[in-house]
Amino acid sequence: MGRRKVKNNDNHNSMKQQNTSVHFEDEEVETTVSSNLEESVTVADIAIEDEAMCDAGVSLVDGEDDKTSADYYFDSYSHFGIHEEMLKDVVRTKTYQNVIYQNKFLFKDKVVLDVGAGTGILSLFCAKAGAAHVYAVECSQMAVTAKQIVEANGFSDVITVLKGKIEEIELPVAKVDIIISEWMGYFLVFENMLNTVLYARDKWLVDDGVVLPDKASLFLTAIEDAEYKDDKIEFWNNVYGFDMSCIKKQAMMEPLVDTVDQNQIVTNCQLLKIMDISKMTPGDASFTAPFKLVAQRNDYIHALVAHFDVSFTKCHKLMGFSTGPKSRATHWKQTVLYLEDVLTICEGEEITGSMTVAPNKKNPRDIDIMLKYSLNGRRCSVSRIQNYKMR
Ligand code: SAH
Repeated sequence: MGRRKVKNNDNHNSMKQQNTSVHFEDEEVETTVSSNLEESVTVADIAIEDEAMCDAGVSLVDGEDDKTSADYYFDSYSHFGIHEEMLKDVVRTKTYQNVIYQNKFLFKDKVVLDVGAGTGILSLFCAKAGAAHVYAVECSQMAVTAKQIVEANGFSDVITVLKGKIEEIELPVAKVDIIISEWMGYFLVFENMLNTVLYARDKWLVDDGVVLPDKASLFLTAIEDAEYKDDKIEFWNNVYGFDMSCIKKQAMMEPLVDTVDQNQIVTNCQLLKIMDISKMTPGDASFTAPFKLVAQRNDYIHALVAHFDVSFTKCHKLMGFSTGPKSRATHWKQTVLYLEDVLTICEGEEITGSMTVAPNKKNPRDIDIMLKYSLNGRRCSVSRIQNYKMR
């Protein structure tokens, strides 16, 4: 999820978008993740009180196709395009499918709540895997379509689609055994829907219930990126002969969602934060995490790059996926934070610092990031604080 304001960036360094023709049958997807998932840390939840994601007050009836672009502006999940992008992200969707189909023991005779069901794909997987009943809750107009899809596939007896916000709807049951959701946004927490999942967990999940996925980890690394930084940042110095460098500041502050080539990576990859979705408490919205990035070769560093892994630890075998630059690209790509300085780093030298992540006070769906970094190297000595805002 989390792609409401999909950025129409060209892919980084002209990497090609994934082919959109998808072969579900024989697609092999990496479903195990790195062993960095042992530590348990609590993390962010974000108070969200906006209507932008959700369609207000339209009943669950068929045949409503009179939406205008204004409606879609406030309710982009009502349009099929965003769901098409998510469904065609094979790493994402196939991992959920593998998790569900290869762990039928989890679903047998169980009641499932699908938080933010979209087209209903996860509910359909769960129904097919033998769930006793699935409640598919979706706040956008896509709920109407999900109901049609459920009917067309003969699952109306097992799946109940409910149109509304998780925070506002009533469930026909007091408790559920499993909560499944695809809530992750860019930079993991952008357009945060995690709070909605935590709300559902605390309200309806039985004591020994399962949250799928139950772990998410944020990582940081550093890259050489001279060419693209030039194109995205220095570009503003001279635009058809005019000085637009005042836009540079704004461009620098905005993390760039794009794919990074693994050959650009100069340092190790540092784990910043592990979120335990089954245990973390709401109100833990912000965190500061220290990092130490050690150069693996002599190079220049232009940006730090964040990405995340997601895992399902309640499976028979650990399953999950990574959105890192060394893994197959997903629609989350990576998040690039350009540095004011170009760091001339020698092999073995360290960039140390910390990253603070917090929801913006005015708009909790936006994320404020504060980066502190310093390098005390033989050829370069820098210490700086930079602020970014994802919006
Ligand atoms: N589960 C689907 C869709 C994931 S995208 C899939 O995996 O393909 C997340 C969905 O959650 C969107 O369709 C969005 O409209 C919905 N959503 C976001 N916040 C919600 C809330 N508070 N209550 C109900 N649905 C929500």
